[in-house]
Amino acid sequence: MSQSQPAYPRVLLKISGEGFCQRGEFGIDGDEIEKIALQLKAVADLGVELAVVVGGGNFLRGRTFTKKAHIHRATADYMGMLATILNAVSLQDTLEKMGVPTRVCSAVHVEAMCEPFIRRRALRHLEKKRIVVLAGGTGNPFFTTDTCAALRASELGVNALLKATNVDGVYSADPKTDPDAELFERLTYQDVIERNLQVMDLSAVDLCRNQDIPIVVFNLKKEGNIERVILGRPVGTTVGKAHKTGAN
Ligand code: UDP
Repeated sequence: MSQSQPAYPRVLLKISGEGFCQRGEFGIDGDEIEKIALQLKAVADLGVELAVVVGGGNFLRGRTFTKKAHIHRATADYMGMLATILNAVSLQDTLEKMGVPTRVCSAVHVEAMCEPFIRRRALRHLEKKRIVVLAGGTGNPFFTTDTCAALRASELGVNALLKATNVDGVYSADPKTDPDAELFERLTYQDVIERNLQVMDLSAVDLCRNQDIPIVVFNLKKEGNIERVILGRPVGTTVGKAHKTGAN
């Protein structure tokens, strides 16, 4: 395989809301979106078909918000889903300013801002090499955008689910508090489920396992990392069916 040949021709990238703001802050930061968009453009330029599920935790997460206010959990979750639309349209405009055709497809219908998610239409956008930003999560309360990422990855027949985070991958313990925490290069779905490792929601991991979709967990804030993962370079942690021997 040549150095610039994608290892994964069609991918789903999950970006948490925290990717859209400065570390420890809130809302949307223009510079952070621009950095993400530049990384996505580099990948689109390789001819890779790219679907992006965006989170909304930079605005609110239903589970915590409902505890702070007299707001029903379901309402708080719908608010969280709307937050993902704010991130999605911000990313769309930033990408299109860079000349990258982008469509936002939302599971929560906000016709004035984006099109509804229709699987076959999203597939057509991908074939036409448009970046598809998937907003509104699954459209259902009591779920997360991680579950949405696994669901859409399965529906859209991607070759890998890339989970962007602000750490280098999956560790044996919290690297912020434990200096001995070990970064795993490879794990099986079973390892993650049995050891309750913090990769994604377990339901999301289980769905990927059933569909045999590898999950790559990596640090979004290191410039060029998305491209490195797509080119098959050793970045972060890969979760898959079985441990492979040899180099990552
Ligand atoms: N959410 C939901 N259903 C979904 C996806 C998301 O109800 O299918 C709500 C939920 O309240 C969640 C919020 O939207 O907390 C933002 O999504 P998430 O927490 O997954 O964002 P992230 O942590 O990735 O930024």
